[in-house]
Amino acid sequence: MGAGAATAAIALPSYIIPYGEKKKNYDGKKLNIALCGLGNYAGALADGLETSQYCRLAGIATGHAEKAETWKKQYNIPEKNIYSYQNFDAIVNNKDIDLVYVVLPNAMHKEFVIRAAKAGKHVITEKPMATSVKDCESMIKACNDAGVQLAVGYRLHYEPYHLEIKRLGQEKIFGQVRFIEASLGYKTYDEAKALQGCDFNDQKEWRLNKKMAGGGPLMDLGIYCIQSCRYVLGEEPIAVQAQFSPVMSPKLFAQVEEAITWQLEFASGAVCNSASSYGYNIDRFFASADNGEFELSPGLSYGPFKGKTSKGDLSFPDINQQTTQLDEIGKLILAEKPLPRHITGEEGIKDIRIIEAIYKAAQTGTKITLA
Ligand code: NAD
Repeated sequence: MGAGAATAAIALPSYIIPYGEKKKNYDGKKLNIALCGLGNYAGALADGLETSQYCRLAGIATGHAEKAETWKKQYNIPEKNIYSYQNFDAIVNNKDIDLVYVVLPNAMHKEFVIRAAKAGKHVITEKPMATSVKDCESMIKACNDAGVQLAVGYRLHYEPYHLEIKRLGQEKIFGQVRFIEASLGYKTYDEAKALQGCDFNDQKEWRLNKKMAGGGPLMDLGIYCIQSCRYVLGEEPIAVQAQFSPVMSPKLFAQVEEAITWQLEFASGAVCNSASSYGYNIDRFFASADNGEFELSPGLSYGPFKGKTSKGDLSFPDINQQTTQLDEIGKLILAEKPLPRHITGEEGIKDIRIIEAIYKAAQTGTKITLA
């Protein structure tokens, strides 16, 4: 049974363009984006920008001259739009860059968001927004002071399956949601690597370095679980409990957790149970409500997603999450309109506050209440 028959699914927003479908024509000015940090995810964003209607890849900032050369050729980037981390502040004089997208390791988001804001550029920073609430506060202040907009790269906020579970939860289509399981984990390191260990000062290992990553899979992947629970319920958690899982690869997980489980409690009485791991694969969202259930599996990664409810399957187009996110942000910034609060720094800081509470709960073995 299709979603339409089952639950009167969302009417798809007009911005949803399935993979392979022709884009609508847009002939106006495009938002000129500079990617700061040219690692794996910057590659996914560059791909997304290739099919974007409202944004284009106009510049880059990187610490590696050879990477700059490769990207310059591949994406036809003018020399004057290429920056190192040292001369990055000169971007203030570059009228051809409207927005800086920070795709660096988590602990570096703060510095480059603030430098971009001071240069008068709008900013998108990757998730997690930063490694502490204090850093998030500085970033929000810097952007407010400079009069620029700050977004967090929450790619699922425009994804049709996620728009639908948000509607099912918040509009109580199956009644009040009582229980959610939302978990995301990837077996990230093989046995040989686990035995060999790593040099924690090697830049490639930043996800295992506490100072650079701020934490382990909770920071990196668990944030999607926290997010989905919050937007499906439409409320904020009031208390958390958490447990670090046993460490199976001590040579890798000496600084950050290998896996963690946690529970969020909400004022409605709803409870969310989640896991996040670098040691095993899991990618699912399940909600049980008074009159039915709904779930996505896979449901938190890049897709394609599969979804079903107790009244039938969900069926939405597979989309390029990065293109869609960039287009929706780009469209608003070009029109000089404020970004919706659910993707701004004000949203990003809420997740970091919850993450800090989860770590405190796991470390102390106590329930932590959130104001
Ligand atoms: P990556 O390791 O592939 O890339 C990191 C980049 O930062 C590299 O180009 C590296 O050279 C550069 N860098 C500069 N200084 C560094 C330093 N001192 N140590 C390490 N790297 C340094 O990482 P990634 O997977 O691209 O992740 C980058 C950011 O994007 C992270 O915040 C991550 O959470 C986020 N991310 C988001 C998604 C998503 O789906 N939204 C997916 C992956 C990563």
